[in-house]
Amino acid sequence: MEHAYDYLIIGGGMAGDAAAKAIRAADASASIGLVSAETSPPYERPPLSKALWKGDKSLESIDLGTAATGAQLHLGRRVQTLDPATRRASDDQGDEYRYGRLLLATGAAPRQLPFAGDRVIDFRTADDYRRLRRHAVAGAHIAVVGGGFIGSELAASLCGAGCKVTMIFPGASIGSGRYPPTLATFLDDYYRVRGVQLLSGVKVVDGSAGEDGVELGLSDGRRLRADAVVAGLGVTPDIALATQAGLTVEDGVVVDAQLRTSDPHIWAAGDMANFFNPSLGRRLRVEHENAAVDMGAHAGRAMAGAGGDYATLPYFYSDLFDLGYEAVGLLDARLQQVEDWSEPHRKGVVYYLDGGRVRGVLLWNVWGQVDAARELIAQAGPVDADSLHGCIPHDG
Ligand code: NAP
Repeated sequence: MEHAYDYLIIGGGMAGDAAAKAIRAADASASIGLVSAETSPPYERPPLSKALWKGDKSLESIDLGTAATGAQLHLGRRVQTLDPATRRASDDQGDEYRYGRLLLATGAAPRQLPFAGDRVIDFRTADDYRRLRRHAVAGAHIAVVGGGFIGSELAASLCGAGCKVTMIFPGASIGSGRYPPTLATFLDDYYRVRGVQLLSGVKVVDGSAGEDGVELGLSDGRRLRADAVVAGLGVTPDIALATQAGLTVEDGVVVDAQLRTSDPHIWAAGDMANFFNPSLGRRLRVEHENAAVDMGAHAGRAMAGAGGDYATLPYFYSDLFDLGYEAVGLLDARLQQVEDWSEPHRKGVVYYLDGGRVRGVLLWNVWGQVDAARELIAQAGPVDADSLHGCIPHDG
């Protein structure tokens, strides 16, 4: 079957949804097609590791309502070939798509554990959430591999669901490489006190999965049995289609200030787009919800002829038990850190500096200060580290 659209969006994540909405807002009569490998229409991803476990949201409520834009959704299909010269794409079921303008929003794929099975979940999608939920009954022992965003959020959520949780990660502590050492140590203790067993400094090297459970082989020689294992090992940007189409690729698909790729009819947004941020003065790829939504919307407007330069700084947030934070810019523990606590490790701001400029701000249980953090990062500097104490108020 052949389809023809003014705007074709490849990828049904949050970036794809935001683009469809922005295109529709800018162009009421355009035809829009969206192709997604997932069988569900686009949905909010952050609740999968947080709000759905607390009962704050239901699976039905996370649908983003993309269909209301009038976009034609082609679900459960993977676009396999893209020819920029003829502006045609084709999917794995033999359908052909002609387009005027195209958005690549193919996202990223989770790194996988070295074995598979129903009880082995490389966590990324709503289907992964459903599968984990089936195994995460009260009293079940769940191994959580990875100490990054997914690992730390899911470990806390699984505890809340009454599971026995063992976390396995290669770093020295939860979120190592991201938080200052004192905060990372505090966080480890916080998890231990709440019953989470932490196995730091180890990787999963092999394993097997059966009908009743899983067995993991760890890099220190230990074996661990659990009812199921869930992994957040980071992601790899999905650039296969961009590469096949001959677009410029370097740690993601390279885009200009309007999020246009090296082809004049193709834009890219979300986890797989590599863009320049003026405040940070460098190119980067951002794998957070806010970037997906902002970039998707920006790309949609740009495709419809209404875009300026994309200049949004990365913003993200997390919930870890009853702790929570917002953050802007780069959280990299290799940078100089200035910690400003009003209540040690309960409420405070951490500034990350490089070359006399603020590059990142962690607002730990400090709310309503994201714009202040953005302004600080945009300042040319040089910044005196001592002057940062009290720079961003802790009570808005
Ligand atoms: P992540 O935050 O990059 O964390 C990956 C973790 O896996 C790190 O602890 C890493 O350790 C560890 N790891 C890597 N290889 C390993 C191995 N072979 N065995 C054991 N551990 C290993 O990525 P993620 O948690 O998987 O999250 C996936 C994506 O979703 C990310 O892009 C993230 O930004 C996004 N996400 C964001 C949020 C949020 O913004 N709140 C929430 C959920 C997901 P080392 O660091 O020591 O290598």
